[in-house]
Amino acid sequence: MEIKNQLLNLKPYQPGKPIEEVKKEYGLSKIVKLASNENPFGTSQKAREAVQRELTQLGIYPDGYSAVLRNALAAHLGRKGEEIILGNGSDEVVQIICRALLKPGTNTVMAVPTFPQYKHNAVIEGAEIKEVPLVDGKHDLDAMLKEMNSETKVVWVCSPNNPTGTHVSKLALEQFLSKVPNHVLVVLDEAYFEYAVAEDYPDTLSYLDTYSNVMVLRTFSKAYGLAALRIGYGVAGREFIASIEPAREPFNTNRVAQAAAAAALEDQDFIRYCKEENRKGLQQFYDFCDETGLSYYPSEGNFILIHFGRNADELFQALLEKGYIVRAGTALGFPESLRITIGTREQNADIIEVLGKLVNRE
Ligand SMILES: *Cc1c(COP(=O)(O)O)cnc(C)c1O
Repeated sequence: MEIKNQLLNLKPYQPGKPIEEVKKEYGLSKIVKLASNENPFGTSQKAREAVQRELTQLGIYPDGYSAVLRNALAAHLGRKGEEIILGNGSDEVVQIICRALLKPGTNTVMAVPTFPQYKHNAVIEGAEIKEVPLVDGKHDLDAMLKEMNSETKVVWVCSPNNPTGTHVSKLALEQFLSKVPNHVLVVLDEAYFEYAVAEDYPDTLSYLDTYSNVMVLRTFSKAYGLAALRIGYGVAGREFIASIEPAREPFNTNRVAQAAAAAALEDQDFIRYCKEENRKGLQQFYDFCDETGLSYYPSEGNFILIHFGRNADELFQALLEKGYIVRAGTALGFPESLRITIGTREQNADIIEVLGKLVNRE
């Protein structure tokens, strides 16, 4: 068999270490996983109840159009149902975009480091990847503009950016959008939208009325706490959405996920609570870093990238052996850093104490 050339040098996604594996490997009973930006408060009670209700319906295919969730989302976002495409996680929406727009001879522009799935899916489609280094952890939008040419099909803007937590300001984004050629789709990945608090964080959905080449991605995996169910979405102009729909599998989002997501949307008190706790948690880490003399990027997400000024793999390993799973920066393009998901107040305090001892020991 002959596998597509593009796949030969591609590695499957390396997720954070699973809890059960770490327990077994190091003989630990308690594990704190702060590696995948999951919500430490779980999910809304309403979503859990919706999951229970769906369990009597498992023999029946889901609604391929996700009408109930679509309508709930449209109302929540103040957009039209036809402007939404649902995915098995926003990961799948990334895949659908790449399937629909990229092929050999085309190119796509993105920051580096950023969320790895843009590149991964673009490589599979055989497109050329143009990566533009972050400056101070932020997208260099001017340099990204310079990379675009007549064969550029998609530009990816991850804001807040994973793994740095930085955001693109309203002013910077508006200047960028006014300069991006019409034939380039601008994907604004807002997986951490619900956590963002910056005053100059843009209202990106409003740009859909001005620009037919803008798409906003969001997900139920992070603040909504439904990572296990795999459900996310994209919002863009209705004609563009209709044109990429054929690249979506018929029953790509499942019944349980649709019901849970629709119910989760109703519980905005839960989201507000998680957002507030996340800010307090970030402050715990900021205080620790300031006291310890460690640098970091201030974050608009539910994670923080802390810099240690030397390779952080050993630190990652030392934390792991104590039962704390974080994300080693090496895999993220920041070998001297660790990315830590903001946990509960207690989890944050615990890992900060352990980290403090490890750092001071040297
Ligand atoms: C987590 C994440 C996603 C993917 O989320 P799904 O679980 O596939 O919805 C997309 N983009 C960024 C930047 C993320 O961090």
